[in-house]
Amino acid sequence: MHLALPSQTSTIEIDGRTFYVKRDDLVHPALAGNKFRKLYKLLTMPSNSFDEIISYGGTQSNAMLAIAAMCREKNWKFIYYTKPLSQTLKNENCGNYFEAKKLGMIHIEIENEHYRDFIAALRFNLDERKFIIDQGGAVPEAILGLEVLAKEIRESSLGLKALATPSATGTTALFLAKMLPEYKIYTTPCVGDIIYLKEQMSAFSDVPKNLIILEPKKKYHFAKPYKEFLAIYKKLLSCGIEFDLLYAPSMWISLLEQTDEEILYVHSGGVSGNESMLKRYIEKKFLEL
Ligand SMILES: *Cc1c(COP(=O)(O)O)cnc(C)c1O
Repeated sequence: MHLALPSQTSTIEIDGRTFYVKRDDLVHPALAGNKFRKLYKLLTMPSNSFDEIISYGGTQSNAMLAIAAMCREKNWKFIYYTKPLSQTLKNENCGNYFEAKKLGMIHIEIENEHYRDFIAALRFNLDERKFIIDQGGAVPEAILGLEVLAKEIRESSLGLKALATPSATGTTALFLAKMLPEYKIYTTPCVGDIIYLKEQMSAFSDVPKNLIILEPKKKYHFAKPYKEFLAIYKKLLSCGIEFDLLYAPSMWISLLEQTDEEILYVHSGGVSGNESMLKRYIEKKFLEL
């Protein structure tokens, strides 16, 4: 498996400002962004460490695709649990779900009413040959890969004082803030609000002072199409870099509206999900073919 490491840094000009972008999107087509960083420790372990990896969550998940690519590489069986899936998504011939299945992922649907209990019970049926990766890759093992990322950032010595990366569980932003206390770390909640994000982070540790959570001016629901998301996606693409359509748009909107210094944006990956997401923009008539 070829991994483009350490990831390079590009610059883009947007609205008269220069941004630096840490190109974690280019590490590998399926194992990119912060999901690559979170899986780094498992990736460096020998193949005979486990037989089976278990995970759960959404069927558009970037973590799901990254785990599938890792398991293919390591020859580990990969079982992924989700709530019931629509026939439309099952039939799609692009996107993270399609690609993960191609990589050998075994997908099992759990009825909505049993899902919570089922996921909670997964840990009771483990043995040392199996490993569970919590939704979004939010496992303590993620720390090692984020340390490598922090080291790459520090060693690139660009002379910047601020970083930015969008949040779901907040694992990436939180640990970068702890590991790089000399930087301001901007993030924004893409799943739920600031209170929810702080709760998620507090499950791991205290939220450090150099972590700045920007509040979006508008309330966005996760994974829904928004005209302004498409607009900023296109604008960034025309500046030369493709970002994901679920997390990056809200982060960029907040950065452009609420900050003014030079910032290193840590690309969080997720571009693999854009093709199926763009289809939804077309269905909504936000985008023409
Ligand atoms: C998972 C993901 C995030 C959120 O990362 P957290 O560490 O859970 O906050 C952001 N951007 C992309 C593209 C992702 O796939």
